[in-house]
Amino acid sequence: MVDPKEIFGENVFGLKAMQEHLSDATFKSLKETIDSGKQLDASIADEVAEAMKEWAMSKGATHYTHWFQPLTGATAEKHDSFIFPDFKGGIVTAFSGDELIQGEPDASSFPSGGLRATFEARGYTGWDPTSPAFIKYDASDAATLCIPTVFCGYHGEALDKKTPLLRSMKVLSEQTVRLGKLFGIDCGDTMAKATLGSEQEYFLLDEELYAARPDLIQTGRTLFGKPASKHQQLDDHYFGAIKPRVAAYMADLDRELWKLGVPAKTRHNEVCPAQFELAPVFETLNVSVDHNMITMEVMKTLAEKHGFTCLLHEKPFAGVNGSGKHNNWSITGPDGKNWLKPGDTPHANAKFMTIICALMKAVDTHADLLRASVASAGNDHRLGANEAPPAVVSIFLGDCLTDVIEQIEAGGASSSKDGGHIELGVDLLPKLPRGNTDRNRTSPFAFTGNRFEFRAVGSNQSPAGANIVLNTIVAEAFDYICTKVEAAVADGKEFNAALQEILAEIIKEHKRILFNGDGYTGEWLAEAAKRGLPNLVNCEEALEPLASQKAKDLFAKYNVLSNEELESRYNTYVECYETIIAIEAGTCADIAKTMIIPAAVTAITEYSAVAAVAGIAVEMSSLLEKLVASVAKLDAAEGAKAQIVAMNEVRAAADALEAIVPADLWPMPSYADMLFI
Ligand code: ADP
Ligand code: MG
Repeated sequence: MVDPKEIFGENVFGLKAMQEHLSDATFKSLKETIDSGKQLDASIADEVAEAMKEWAMSKGATHYTHWFQPLTGATAEKHDSFIFPDFKGGIVTAFSGDELIQGEPDASSFPSGGLRATFEARGYTGWDPTSPAFIKYDASDAATLCIPTVFCGYHGEALDKKTPLLRSMKVLSEQTVRLGKLFGIDCGDTMAKATLGSEQEYFLLDEELYAARPDLIQTGRTLFGKPASKHQQLDDHYFGAIKPRVAAYMADLDRELWKLGVPAKTRHNEVCPAQFELAPVFETLNVSVDHNMITMEVMKTLAEKHGFTCLLHEKPFAGVNGSGKHNNWSITGPDGKNWLKPGDTPHANAKFMTIICALMKAVDTHADLLRASVASAGNDHRLGANEAPPAVVSIFLGDCLTDVIEQIEAGGASSSKDGGHIELGVDLLPKLPRGNTDRNRTSPFAFTGNRFEFRAVGSNQSPAGANIVLNTIVAEAFDYICTKVEAAVADGKEFNAALQEILAEIIKEHKRILFNGDGYTGEWLAEAAKRGLPNLVNCEEALEPLASQKAKDLFAKYNVLSNEELESRYNTYVECYETIIAIEAGTCADIAKTMIIPAAVTAITEYSAVAAVAGIAVEMSSLLEKLVASVAKLDAAEGAKAQIVAMNEVRAAADALEAIVPADLWPMPSYADMLFI
């Protein structure tokens, strides 16, 4: 039996450990930095560093690392030990404030998308005191103190995902605080905070089966495989009883995450056999992003201990569900309250409706950027397939809220409740359905009672990208509304009337983004096209909006990404996409040539000798011809588009062969083998 209370945060230098190990004055100063985003008082750094080292060493740590999130989408670390020679033949251990605050890893081998030349190798990591340091144990129980940091170039240019995330949180906070003031909420220096809870889907596979699939090893997904006769059709896996081996893994996973201060909360079977989900309790956005990165890492390393391999790819298996990462996002105002929760007073409701309208404006204006933020080679297999939200971004508000929106639109500034109109700041909202009663699983961007859930994020992606966009576009919409209302009020207009007029205007302009129906249907795609909503189906076209003037202006205006930083990201992501497709193409051709073609030849030779199955031999020969021809086409293919077309042809021929080649000759485990643990 484990008492979660006993182990929670055991491996984290969080508030509890800080209070225990720091002087009162230092603790107070550090806490202030964490709460208000104020610059760190450099004079306390030495004491904090020493305390962190003592604490980490008491947990068995010999090394520390600045832990950061380069554009690869993974996390990076370079370890340094605490030791120094004492020049008497022994050592002392030390860790200075300078070492805590700044590191200088060689940055030349991280993607920068042309932001810097390779010879300008200098990169800097800088401590993010708002995300607690933690201890990571490797398989032999050696421990390393991991210090969450940002990662920048010599001139401060962002080379990571965290820097723009923190910048976007800052601007969202500023605009939220400003919006609050319109509604009489003034909490001084206290910041508003975006919050995130990311539900993480994953697959588990027996490690021997994984080891026998070079496609999984090289690319994270199966490039071949005839569908299993039974997979998920019966829906008998979703929320089903968890098998003991998986349950043991999940229990272990929760324990390890709790020790790291990750509030793992929910675990269950997902739709596809071998697919599962973990959801944490939501936290402040940057901490939650760090925790999601930690979660993905622990999922993978812990799987090995249990004889599994954890697959985080968005689509490890064709024909069955892929994996996503539902991004539950909200704003906690400076008053500490969730501002996406409908209020109990007309005043609170006016604020709530203002935020809903701001989101409509933000998402409609920048649907292309939200789409770009989730564009990846892996996610291409998922978005638009009938299991995940379509590549068209729309908002689900539910019938009740949509009705209120329509009333505000019709109401106009001076209308009263006559005719069923709601007057902002005067009337209460009708009770909105809470919880799971009003749900739409097919919407990419759904209001779920007290938060928005952006469901298009891929399971393998850092949540940072989507939230950088979300924070920035909402900040822009708040800015717009505040500017308008402030001006109208300065002109002598009554506040509620001014607000109502502006919201009605926003609704008129942006209501095309609302869609409460089934997002999986062809009718919706046709309707969305009629409404002029972008439908960017593949990664290459979905990334393009990042290179647009609109995007450059937006991110530069709010100091989230300079034009150069944005451009470098665009280049990095395009290059990454092309590289992934090229790796897949190479792997596909290798497997076809060295594993599948030989198996087919053996089968054909054996069958040709037996009259009764000579017909099957002929069928195999014709498929083999197709396979050989498509492999030649793949070898010759240039560019991602042509490679994808050729890979699909190779797969079609190979999967057809798998259906008739004797199972004992087939060189890889089948879908049926892999999907059932
Ligand atoms: P479902 O699968 O029904 O969407 P889950 O309980 O699996 O629900 O996940 C919901 C997620 O939303 C959890 O991570 C939860 O902590 C998170 N969440 C709840 N409230 C907020 C909020 N105010 N801000 C951000 N995330 C939230
Ligand atoms: Mg969800």
